[in-house]
Amino acid sequence: MKQIDHIGIAVNNMEASIARYEILLNTPCYKRETVESQGVETAFFKVGDSKIELLAATSPQSVIVSFIEKRGEGIHHIAFETDDLRKEAARMQNEGFRLLNEHPQPGADNKEILFLHPKDTGGVLVELCQTKPVQDPS
Ligand code: ZN
Repeated sequence: MKQIDHIGIAVNNMEASIARYEILLNTPCYKRETVESQGVETAFFKVGDSKIELLAATSPQSVIVSFIEKRGEGIHHIAFETDDLRKEAARMQNEGFRLLNEHPQPGADNKEILFLHPKDTGGVLVELCQTKPVQDPS
């Protein structure tokens, strides 16, 4: 693992939460992105080398809806940046960690992502992520 890439926070009201975090962090939201496959809208803030990712549901089936129903708004996941997502995922599986995704999924912020089962990580949803390689235009 290279570093904590970001901390994901589940919120009910994206507009109100962005306004609140802009004041709290004293920095503007630099990116908003919807990831349809995950049923989430995201908003990012830079905090040094790490980021805060606000997550709001885009549909009633979104995992964010069930998360907030069960636990209320709050920290949803911690994301660790890796140099090689597939290699790191294989290492984790060898160590007995279960993955929630069989294959890397498209994430926000130009990332591929995988989640580990929170039962194997002390109740914390852990995301592994890797920045997608720059596409060769040729
Ligand atoms: Zn994330």
